[in-house]
Amino acid sequence: MIREQPDLLVDLNSLFLTQLILLMKSAISLSGCENVYYYALHADRKEYTLEKMESVHPFKVTNRIPASDELLTALSTSGKKSLGSREPTTLLHEVVYTGIPAPDRPQSLLYSPIEFNKSHIGFLLFDHRKPDFFTTDDIPSVKSLTGLLSAQISSFQYLDLFRERCDLYSIMLEVNTHLNVAASKEDFLTEIGRIGKYFLKCDRAIIALRQDTFGSRFIIDAIDGSDKDVHVGDSYPVENTLVGRAIQKGKIQLYKPEAPPPIQGIFKPGDRDSYPFNSAVAFPLNDEPNSTGALVLEFNDPPDIVEMDIKLFGMIGLNLGAALNRLNLYAMMKENATTDALTNVYNSRSVRERLSEEVARARRYQSALTLLFLDLDKFKAVNDTYGHLMGDYVLRDTAKIIKDNVRTGDIVGRYGGEEFVVILINAVAEDVVKTAERIRETIANHEFEFEDQVVHVKISIGVAQFPKDGDSEEHLLRSADAAMYETKRKGGNDITLYKPGMQPRYN
Ligand code: GH3
Ligand code: MG
Ligand code: MG
Repeated sequence: MIREQPDLLVDLNSLFLTQLILLMKSAISLSGCENVYYYALHADRKEYTLEKMESVHPFKVTNRIPASDELLTALSTSGKKSLGSREPTTLLHEVVYTGIPAPDRPQSLLYSPIEFNKSHIGFLLFDHRKPDFFTTDDIPSVKSLTGLLSAQISSFQYLDLFRERCDLYSIMLEVNTHLNVAASKEDFLTEIGRIGKYFLKCDRAIIALRQDTFGSRFIIDAIDGSDKDVHVGDSYPVENTLVGRAIQKGKIQLYKPEAPPPIQGIFKPGDRDSYPFNSAVAFPLNDEPNSTGALVLEFNDPPDIVEMDIKLFGMIGLNLGAALNRLNLYAMMKENATTDALTNVYNSRSVRERLSEEVARARRYQSALTLLFLDLDKFKAVNDTYGHLMGDYVLRDTAKIIKDNVRTGDIVGRYGGEEFVVILINAVAEDVVKTAERIRETIANHEFEFEDQVVHVKISIGVAQFPKDGDSEEHLLRSADAAMYETKRKGGNDITLYKPGMQPRYN
């Protein structure tokens, strides 16, 4: 039978209906009745529809019967006849067999209302053509049959719920795996937004992060959904808002319009009046006070969330927090691994890596690439005269001067003690000389002042161009070093362009 309106009070799945038929079949063989009908009440409580029927001698029964007050009262009171109303069987006789002339109708009826969660959701009807076929002895078995049915409905409903949760669990596992390997925060949010939308039917997912550990403000870090009222980068005080409370208390916060929490707003105090969503849940990223942020899920319509969902998403929030911590740590470690701690420019290993990447790129696109090799003149004397701290200071300042005199895309690295390299990308030959000269001159004229002492240092520079002076990373480095060494030989504080035959200091 095709259902015309699927929104029954309790929507039964096909597995349940199979069970129902089995029960109905056994009712027929046990009780000896001819037909069993299962009528389900609609969500609006205005109509019953015939959902299932098992027949030996079928009657042409009405598929849809109005759920009149009289019928509802009679059936809802579990068969107890209420004062003033007629026998439920009389009522059913009228509404179920309407198209059949009275003499042709079944002469015996037995019915049993079905309840689920203490509310009436439909009834079973048994009939037989012969009068007085059913006796009061049949009532207990019919009652236990419908009782069984109610219990099955619950278990099937829970089974459905459970299956959904199992799906959620497996997705959670998937998310966890993603969170463990995801490359960026954006990946997390996309994934969480997807799950939030799918399972909780949320309409927006936001990650809000605290500015620093005990910071008094949080920042909107990422948005999956509309950004009409909030924008990435917006910063709000932690005090007195739903999101702020989740962050401060490290506890899940719920906002529903009908039960407003004692807060002044969702993201910022006073935004509740113009808040474009119906409800929101804020999950902290750590489950202790002063969390690092919150995952916020927002809903256009009142959400249909159960305790379990909240718990699961609470866990997702915590995993997100842990993953973000890992990401930050990773970024920090990566920076430590690529940056020279003293001068804050690339360290020698990573500048060599960058050089080989740039050589490959220049080779592929036939673009210009120049390498400068820079070495401070008589730097040992600075250490010897003014001490190591002054030496360190000069190195730091030199790196800064070099960086300030190249373009943003150019790469500066500390190659050794007082040696630097600069990879100039796409610079034409005259610009290279100008840049090198500017660096040399700025350093030569600079007063390195540290703890009331001033020193002057000079620098020697060698220039090698790809591919004419070297067609590989190694070759370029050797040529630039040889050119720098040539400068030193001529007294330092100058620039030398590489020429074939110049000898590097070391091979
Ligand atoms: P040249 O003009 O030939 O380049 O002479 P130089 O003294 O600059 O060169 P040399 O290679 O003889 O000495 C380099 C000095 O750089 C030795 C060392 O004391 C100093 N140095 C290397 N790394 C550091 C550092 O991290 N901090 C400080 N303060 N000094 C360093
Ligand atoms: Mg030197
Ligand atoms: Mg040196």
